[in-house]
Amino acid sequence: MRIALVSDVHANLAALEAVLAEADRAGAEQLWCMGDMVGYGAEPDAVIARLREAGAQCVMGNHDAAALGKISIDDFNANAAAAARWTAETISPETRDYLEALPLTLGDDFATRCHGTLANPIWEYLVTYPAALGHFALQTTPCSVVGHTHVPLFIRKPGEGEELDIVRPGDGDVVELGAGLVCINPGGVGQPRDGDPRACWALLDTAAGHVTFHRVPYDIATTQRLITEAGLPPQLAARLALGR
Ligand code: ZN
Repeated sequence: MRIALVSDVHANLAALEAVLAEADRAGAEQLWCMGDMVGYGAEPDAVIARLREAGAQCVMGNHDAAALGKISIDDFNANAAAAARWTAETISPETRDYLEALPLTLGDDFATRCHGTLANPIWEYLVTYPAALGHFALQTTPCSVVGHTHVPLFIRKPGEGEELDIVRPGDGDVVELGAGLVCINPGGVGQPRDGDPRACWALLDTAAGHVTFHRVPYDIATTQRLITEAGLPPQLAARLALGR
């Protein structure tokens, strides 16, 4: 099975379309989305409609929860909070219903998926060694997939008491799943944060036992124009060109 892994689309339709076109060409049979479909960008309804059309299996992220008023935005920075308020006021009833029904975790015998970490699916960033250890302690499947950081990452826990293997994959990198537990973060589709503005995604090939990380250029100018026209904070448009 070839599965396209995406996360943090953040209401950026041009980035999502570019990723879906490439995933299609790569023969992806399923689409897994690790949350934060909305927030920051100006196209929440269009992005949700496109993900549903593509049959995406999605979990809830902190920005999805914020758009529903399920979590406080006190911990959001000013621009994120402004975008969360705009999103809450803008989304259609259909989008709201879809977001309301999202699970915090999703999975099968092979892979468990969530936005942050298995210890705290909504909020925790899997960026520190202790956070990774806490995540793996709760992982009961060989593989897990997360998002939230907007940075591609691959971590392997070879065995009990062994050091974690940490890979920061670049465009085109193929990483063998191997033995032990693994955790994959495909990076952010709609707002990459590793200094490369190209949209991130990954192709998990369960038969081949590897995951390939990809970057794809998209029409950043159109997304920026829509953010500006919507009256969202201009910094949310500017950062897309920087990949920050
Ligand atoms: Zn996000």
